[in-house]
Amino acid sequence: MDAAEARARLSALSDLETKLSELGLHWNGVVREAIDDVRNRTIADAGDAVAHICMPCCGPIMVGDKMQFTTDAEPLCEACAFSWGDMREQWAQTAQAPASEEEAAEAAASLAAYVAHIDAGGSPDDKPLILAEVMR
Ligand SMILES: [Zn+2]
Repeated sequence: MDAAEARARLSALSDLETKLSELGLHWNGVVREAIDDVRNRTIADAGDAVAHICMPCCGPIMVGDKMQFTTDAEPLCEACAFSWGDMREQWAQTAQAPASEEEAAEAAASLAAYVAHIDAGGSPDDKPLILAEVMR
């Protein structure tokens, strides 16, 4: 299975999950197992073409796609990724009540990166994205 076919199949599965969720069937055991089975077989058949599955939308993130990792290292597709403005709010909250000196330093560094982005002509609505690499 090539990358385009894998993307199409995984996107269709994501759409199916959305529809099932709207019907309240999303967490039905048999349906859940069937979707996961087809998804896992598609990922296996696609070799290294699939980098990640987006956590919120369950859509495919193919190698070379733009993406983002959350602070908990969960993959997000470009559509689901947080903007600089979204993250600035989180960093500002963390900076006000950090749990540790390390967290305070990280928040300060992140806020400085935000300021640098804006100073360079960037928008709060921009999304800091990376290119997806082969899944490990
Ligand atoms: Zn997504």
